[in-house]
Amino acid sequence: MGETLHARIHLNDIAEYAKGPYEFVNDDEQFDANANAYNHYFTEDDRGTVSKAFEVFQAAIGDDAINRPSFKIRCALPPYAECTGDPKDPDDPTDVFALADPTPEDLNVPGRVQPGPRHMVICPGLWEQPRLPSTDEEVEEYCQGGQYYTEWETGVHTLMHELSHLDSFGLIMEWGTMHEPASEHLPEFDFHGTTDWQGSSSVSARRLRTADPIDPENDWIPLYRNAENHAGLALEYSVKAKCGVDDVPTLPPP
Ligand SMILES: [Zn+2]
Repeated sequence: MGETLHARIHLNDIAEYAKGPYEFVNDDEQFDANANAYNHYFTEDDRGTVSKAFEVFQAAIGDDAINRPSFKIRCALPPYAECTGDPKDPDDPTDVFALADPTPEDLNVPGRVQPGPRHMVICPGLWEQPRLPSTDEEVEEYCQGGQYYTEWETGVHTLMHELSHLDSFGLIMEWGTMHEPASEHLPEFDFHGTTDWQGSSSVSARRLRTADPIDPENDWIPLYRNAENHAGLALEYSVKAKCGVDDVPTLPPP
């Protein structure tokens, strides 16, 4: 119960986290496709899609039934088997903050997935993530406490990333169908939400999307179909606005 409440508190921050980028792309005076933050994740052509996506993020827990993706939240239970598997330490369940089931709601896999709203699964790592700062004191502490992208991640950042994976999110966005091949746990399925570029949700994976030349022959996906691109824009926009940092660095070289 405490953990579910914790997840709901982070979700309550999602409208604020999404509001800055939404206003940025919808303000002709302010919008600049070459501005830091936006230019790390999207191009001018993505502007309308980004606007719509951040409208849907803001509706995630509100009364806007048309734009609200359907999903349920549940907490992983000990020994948190579904939360392990991060390459850094495959047995540590705190490495994974949360997961979202990206399968369509009508998919029925006997013994595993029942038709209906998909689950966002909260893992122990999320309980250790800070909340998006709001008071002056919290903002000051937050700004001083971070130097790099990952040091400024909060619980709402994780939930925004996961929310975009949901098939219900992609259906509202009217994105095209993408195909996921069969895996150890699931048969092949079509999905409509975001995916993780190169199988990773890390900061380096999202920056590669704009740093690398795009090769249509080499598993190219639209920028807006990479989950971390949305959360990344929100993070950098938030840090710019709250801390006055113009360009959020990635991690220092190893
Ligand atoms: Zn992901």
